[in-house]
Amino acid sequence: MHLGLSIENCVVNTAILIDGGDFVWQNSYALERDKIGCLLAVCSDISKHAHTAHPGLSEKIAVSTQGGFTGQPSPPDGLKCLIGTDLRSNLQASLGRPVALVSPGQALALYESRFGVAKNCGVACSLYLDSHVFGGVTFGENLWRGANRIVGAWGHMPLAWPVPHELDGRDCWCGRNGCIDCFLSLSGLENEYHTITQTRLDIQAISAAANASDLVAANVLQVLDDRLGRTTATIINMFDPDVIILGGRLANLERLYQTLPRKWPGYLLVERSKTKLRKAGQDEFTLAKGAACFAADRS
Ligand SMILES: [Zn+2]
Repeated sequence: MHLGLSIENCVVNTAILIDGGDFVWQNSYALERDKIGCLLAVCSDISKHAHTAHPGLSEKIAVSTQGGFTGQPSPPDGLKCLIGTDLRSNLQASLGRPVALVSPGQALALYESRFGVAKNCGVACSLYLDSHVFGGVTFGENLWRGANRIVGAWGHMPLAWPVPHELDGRDCWCGRNGCIDCFLSLSGLENEYHTITQTRLDIQAISAAANASDLVAANVLQVLDDRLGRTTATIINMFDPDVIILGGRLANLERLYQTLPRKWPGYLLVERSKTKLRKAGQDEFTLAKGAACFAADRS
């Protein structure tokens, strides 16, 4: 049995993968303060409870997180306590057991390729579109992490085939500018609407406005279609996956599953791509489950 955690801003989600292949112990624990001491205390409590409730639990724990990776910047608008923090070392010292970290995109790819919409696919790529953009790649249900453990960092590649105004002044939290994260994160999309209208709407409201004939909202979504089309086409050009999995809150836009594949012929050598575009399962514990799979692989 293997424990996975997912740090998702103000909560830590948990899941245990049992040896028969099912998941149990899916819980959410609130983080009351954005302090590293509070985060470590919550994770330590979770670990103790899990190991007490499940004596056969393996020693190693895996954690999905957006920040706290050694030598990498962390998103400034996520948990502040992860900025400049070596989360893995802190967790290992606090929990007294080995810990492995995985990005949300990697956790998503691993769970969906082993249990979800990309099951039985040879190559699967994930694109996690939420507060920030993350990704991951699996080959035959095995997560490929790469020499630097950053496979799937699509969010910090430049937007492909940019038009001139897309090259201007989009500073990314990674320290560069023009990154995909600036365009395809939730805040990036919401800023598009705000820049034109001076009205701040979230993605659901922009989608509803587009359906109610708001021309600006409709245009913002059409631009999103094109940018996501270019980004997914770039992923196909690199990995030629059997499936691309969209996850995170932006993946709930149903239009994407029709509009994006229609963009691909303009950017690929083939006219008809066999790559499938799939929406990740609607499960708040997906990332914790992906982390549990990762813990199983590392044990
Ligand atoms: Zn960046």
